[in-house]
Amino acid sequence: MPELTGFAVIGCSKCRRIMSADLSYATKTCQCGHKLDLKKTKHLAVFASAEDAAQAVMQMQERKNTGFTSAVKFERV
Ligand SMILES: [Zn+2]
Repeated sequence: MPELTGFAVIGCSKCRRIMSADLSYATKTCQCGHKLDLKKTKHLAVFASAEDAAQAVMQMQERKNTGFTSAVKFERV
C-alpha cells in the first residue's frame, strides 16, 4: 500500500531538525540545505492534514532533547 498522500513528520538525517513534509512531493529540502528523499526517509508519523502534521512536529520538537521520538511512542492529544 503506497503512502503517497498525506503529510509525514520526518527528521533531517543531517541536522536532526523535525519537520512536516507533503507526501505529494518526492523530496523535502531541510532548512539546513539537506535534501531528503521522502521515500527513503523514515516517517515518524503520517497525518491526513497539514495542520495535524504541524502540531505533531511542535510536540516532537519539545521532546527533541531525548532524541528521536518514534511513531510508536507518539500519542496524539
Ligand atoms: Zn537539516
